Order: sequence, then structure tokens, then C-alpha cells
Amino acid sequence: MVRPAPPGRPVPFRQFVVKLHSRCDLACDHCYVYTMADQRWRNRPRTMSAAMLARTGERIGEHARRHQLDRVSVVLHGGEPLLAGVSDLGRAVELLRRGAAPVPVRMTVQTNGVRLDDSFLRLFDRLDVRVSVSLDGDRTAHDRHRRGPDGRGSHHRVEAALHRLTGSYRRLFNGLLCTVDLRNDPITTYRGLLAHRPPVVDFLLPHGTWSAPPAGRTSDPRQAPYADWLGAVFDEWYSGGGQPTRVRLFDEIIQLLLGGSSRLAGVGVSPVAVAVVETDGAIEMDDTLGTAHAAPGAPACTSTGTTSTPPSTSPASGPSRPGRPGSARSAVPATCTRSAAAASTRTGGAPAAASTTRRCTAPTCTGSSVTSAARCSGT
Ligand code: SF4
Repeated sequence: MVRPAPPGRPVPFRQFVVKLHSRCDLACDHCYVYTMADQRWRNRPRTMSAAMLARTGERIGEHARRHQLDRVSVVLHGGEPLLAGVSDLGRAVELLRRGAAPVPVRMTVQTNGVRLDDSFLRLFDRLDVRVSVSLDGDRTAHDRHRRGPDGRGSHHRVEAALHRLTGSYRRLFNGLLCTVDLRNDPITTYRGLLAHRPPVVDFLLPHGTWSAPPAGRTSDPRQAPYADWLGAVFDEWYSGGGQPTRVRLFDEIIQLLLGGSSRLAGVGVSPVAVAVVETDGAIEMDDTLGTAHAAPGAPACTSTGTTSTPPSTSPASGPSRPGRPGSARSAVPATCTRSAAAASTRTGGAPAAASTTRRCTAPTCTGSSVTSAARCSGT
């Protein structure tokens, strides 16, 4: 059924992306959170506090009642939301639902999958939380980017998690999220995703800007390599009847072609009904927009591995990297601030005394602090 286009007035938010944990246990080199211009995650709490979760739930409930929504959707996001742990994650679900009551909340968690074990699945089963997993295709495609801080691929761990999820907990399976890389064969990638029989596949395009387009994208308007890649997947999907797996990007484009509206940010011009809530409670429209510019006053990483505050007027100015969106990214070197000790060494000073405790700013560090003489394990 075609959704009618909205009549040009604001639409209420129906989905809320709640950043439960601002750090991650993977170090994907295509990550829009840690490797691009906006480095505000460094100043944000690692986890959303209980008080903030309760207040967020209340505000969602107020919004839903004001706009007479019969239900809303919350996506628990990060970073990696499973880093919150089973107990805190369960409490977060209950606080958000209690705050929003009596408006029902459909709850989903978006995870990289590496920690998705039976204890999480039992919790999600008990609380009716649906699970979406990030998977970029087969092992070669996935491990091209989705690696741990030690450089090792995560595909085998994600596969094991999907095996658990699609066994006794299949009813919780919400879908797969795949970031497109032109070096991966589109059909092999699509079939690698379909092997798990996901109800929905979301294809994400790599982020870029006009000055730093995604890899393979040129200024030649006759060249459309991402459309070609997706077109090959579309032909495969369409010839298979498009069922039982939905591809959200194709569904939304078809909606637009038939005169309807899109619910997907970046597809068409329909108002986006999604709000993002950061761990400190800040509300944003679409956090991926931070790939283009560092926020005024936010710390940026310098090539020495230390943090600094960029001028408020400066655009993102990371170094170009071959085959990657260059200037849209921050200047974060691959090993930047993985340990407070390493950062201290790179700035030219002697490592601080072992008794000095400093905050570790590695995206993969999930502890609250690390002694500067001890290398942060990133876990
Ligand atoms: S799994 Fe990868 S892409 Fe997702 S938040 Fe972690 S580092 Fe970023």
C-alpha cells in the first residue's frame, strides 16, 4: 500500500534512537561515530544514567500523548549498546517503558553482535526486545572493515551470534544492517545476508561529503557506481519476488516512485520522524550528519594522538586516505589514544607515573578510567 505524502507540515517523531552506550568493542574503520569529523562522543558519558533514561522515557511519553500516537519505537543504540551489560540493559528497557507508559514502546536493539550470547537473548525474550545485527556480507566483506582494536575480524563472532539468534530466538530477529563497499560483489554480499533469512535488510551507503565523496564516487555524472551496485542487488531481490526478506531502501524508493512518502532519512524529501538521544540527553535529528563537520567546541584528535579543541568555524580537516572519504574524517590515527600511556608517549612527554589515573578516550575502552602506565586493553 502506498503511503500518502504528508501535506508539508511537521510530523511527530515516532522512532527514538537512544544511545545507551557511547563506546564500542569494535574499531571499524568505516564507523561514522569514531572516525569522522564529529568527535563529541569523547566528552559524553559512556552510558546513559538511570535518571536520564527515566526522563527520556517520560519525554517520549509526553510527545506521544501530545500527538496522539498509539505507539512509538525505541532503538537502543551506541556505540555498542550491549556494553551496558545484561542487568543495566534490562533496567534501561524497563525505565524507558515505564517513563513512556501508557504509550506502548516497541523496543529494538542495534548491535554489532559480538557479545550477543544466551544471557542477552534470554533477557530480550523476556522483555520482548527485537534484535538487529550489523553484518556486511560474507567473511571477506565483513572483515574488510568490522575488526576489533587488535585488527582481527569479527565475522566468526557475529556468525555465531546469528546462529544463536536465528535458532530458538528467531522471533526476536529484526533484521541485518549492511554497509556497502564497492569492492564486495553485490550478489555474493546479498546472498551472504540472505543465508540468515532476515526479515529486513538495510543497506547503508558509506558516508561522504561533496569535497570528500565515498570511495569510487567521482564527479562524472555518468558514473553511478553505488547505484550500479544496488541495481544488481535489486535485480536479484526482485527476481526472487522480494519475499520474505524486505530491503528497506528498495521499498522506500518504490513508495516514492508510486507517489507516496519515504520514512528513510536520505530517501526523498519527506520529513524524518526519528529523533536521536545521546548518552548525556542531547537530542539530535540525525547523528550521521556529524560526519561532515566537527561541532563547535568539540574536541578533535590531532595527528599526535592528543585531543584539542578546533576553531568553531573550521570545517572538518582530516587527511585524505586512499579510497576512503578523506576530509570528512577526523585526523584520528589508527592507534590514537588506544591507551592513555601511548598518548602520553606520543606527545613527547615521559609516561606519567603509574599512580596517575587518567581518563581513557579510546572508543573501544569501556572502563571509566585507566592508569596511564597501563596499556588500555580496549575492552
Ligand atoms: S560496531 Fe563498528 S560501526 Fe558500529 S559503532 Fe562499533 S565501531 Fe562503529
